[in-house]
Amino acid sequence: MDRRTLLRGAAASASAHALLPAPGARAAVRATADYPSAKWVPASSANFTASSRPSSYPVRYVVVHVTQETYADTLGIFRNPAKRVSAHYVVRSSDGHVAQCVRERDIAWHAGNWNYNTWSIGIEHEGWVDRPAYFTHAMYVRSAALTASVCDRYGIPKDRAHIIAHSEVPGATHSDPGPLWDWVRYIRLVNFA
Ligand SMILES: [Zn+2]
Repeated sequence: MDRRTLLRGAAASASAHALLPAPGARAAVRATADYPSAKWVPASSANFTASSRPSSYPVRYVVVHVTQETYADTLGIFRNPAKRVSAHYVVRSSDGHVAQCVRERDIAWHAGNWNYNTWSIGIEHEGWVDRPAYFTHAMYVRSAALTASVCDRYGIPKDRAHIIAHSEVPGATHSDPGPLWDWVRYIRLVNFA
């Protein structure tokens, strides 16, 4: 790394720091994920609302999504400030690899309902609602482990009243994860993760 690159990096982290609310600044500057096995792939700051959950809002739900995009395209959308959309996590179909794009303390824009955005962690799964081949065992297992971790850390019951479909959010205009998502298997995996 040359001197110019170092300076640019220092300027970038200084400006990132300046944008953050003081109480969470130290934690938020850390370039690591909240969920230890996730890879930190940050969304554009234009695509979520900075917050300090769970003190600002309680975290009561996990909202399950299917992307209708590839894993790579989904991460690209979340990085694009024009898209105005994000989720906390994206799980890859082929191997269940997890990317974190928004800090859990912050409010991702995924549910299409402001209150539910404030109360939830959004998890996107790579695939399409009508292509069940994308819903691999690896994706179910690794997503369930992530959801179990979220539930444990915020005291969320591991049931269908609290681990909900995007389509179940009041006012939702999306149908994901759709009728081919195996909820019985998923909830069982969450409870035995
Ligand atoms: Zn969705």
